[in-house]
Amino acid sequence: MEEVDCIVTGAGVVGLAVARALALAGREVLILDKAESFGTETSARNSEVIHAGIYYPHGSLMARFCVEGRKALYAYLGERGLPHKRCGKLIVATDAAELEKLAGIRARAAVNGVEDMELLSAAEAQALEPALSCTGALLSPSTGVIDSHAYMLSLLGDAEAHGATLVCETPVLGGRVTAGGVEIEAGGAEPMALRCKLFINAAGLGAPALARRIEGMPPARIPGTWWAKGNYFTLTGRSPFARLIYPVPVPGGLGTHLTLDLAGQARFGPDVEWVEEIDYQVDPRRGDSFYAAIRRYWPDLPDEALQPAYSGIRPKIVPPGAPGQDFVIEGPRDHGVAGLVNLFGIESPGLTSSLAIGSYVAGLV
Ligand SMILES: Cc1cc2nc3c(=O)[nH]c(=O)nc-3n(C[C@H](O)[C@H](O)[C@H](O)COP(=O)(O)OP(=O)(O)OC[C@H]3O[C@@H](n4cnc5c(N)ncnc54)[C@H](O)[C@@H]3O)c2cc1C
Repeated sequence: MEEVDCIVTGAGVVGLAVARALALAGREVLILDKAESFGTETSARNSEVIHAGIYYPHGSLMARFCVEGRKALYAYLGERGLPHKRCGKLIVATDAAELEKLAGIRARAAVNGVEDMELLSAAEAQALEPALSCTGALLSPSTGVIDSHAYMLSLLGDAEAHGATLVCETPVLGGRVTAGGVEIEAGGAEPMALRCKLFINAAGLGAPALARRIEGMPPARIPGTWWAKGNYFTLTGRSPFARLIYPVPVPGGLGTHLTLDLAGQARFGPDVEWVEEIDYQVDPRRGDSFYAAIRRYWPDLPDEALQPAYSGIRPKIVPPGAPGQDFVIEGPRDHGVAGLVNLFGIESPGLTSSLAIGSYVAGLV
């Protein structure tokens, strides 16, 4: 049986960031992905927002890694000259009750280390964004947008420059924990068995299922799987906004918000649709409910202006209606199995957090 030092399963942004951190630390790394290329699943199907770290509960891994990861990400993108834009974001209140909530959001952000948020009057917000209708707003200057594919390509390049290898079309089927590490079976055109000292499960939507197929991994440490699809609708024509526009969050979600890509194209979403299968098609009828929500802050949204765009699926590890989840990243000290790290529930802000998660995992082992 062939032996490698580390195997990272999953070449999404998180698997690549972990592989890069391990390779930079001098470890031999093999990255395996079932798809034909890297970054084709959730990492290619998100809002591409560099989040500031505003809403996450204080002390959560999401709060910590979002703020650390955001700072590391801007530095990395700047050093490499990779495409991104610190365009800023407005959280907009559209009535008196929402206006009262803005100060609380700002206070929570400050506790998380996001200290640059500014409360704006309606007139100040409208001076920035004339198409906006609101009773007040919070400006987050450190929110931005990124070209996630260019970023992933750069992570992979760094990892490869330090000896890592990516092998695609190679699903990891399962494995077992042994005295010296983990043995795995991989499928694809050339099925193989491999032994490694360190196995990283960064399989995104498939991470809990993969962990269940590793003999010796305590089942009690593997969460359940629920999938929450998020559908996006693009705006036909030019965006009336230069910043990202978010309503005040509602219980269970961030509301129907507007994000921009690097070319300035506006899209609305993602909504929440619980699904049991991976099907990325967008049902055009889901756009109907978007209009009223958007017109609360942009009354001039024309009829028929929204077109179904794309969707992504959130790797949930708590069922619908349960309180919010946190990232679950567990190594030997948590589950007692040497040489194994599982990453579960890496939904938003996983892209923003990726460099921080990479360093954290490399530190765990
Ligand atoms: C709708 C939506 C919007 C989001 N918006 C943002 C945002 O704006 N900002 C932000 O910071 N975050 C955002 N996120 C979160 C972010 O996209 C994810 O946290 C991140 O992409 C997760 O990366 P990953 O590498 O863990 O997973 P993935 O990108 O899903 O990668 C997992 C990889 O594992 C592979 N794989 C799975 N099973 C196996 C197997 N058995 N064998 C081999 N390979 C396997 C898959 O092919 C895939 O390539 C969003 C997420 C969603 C769903």
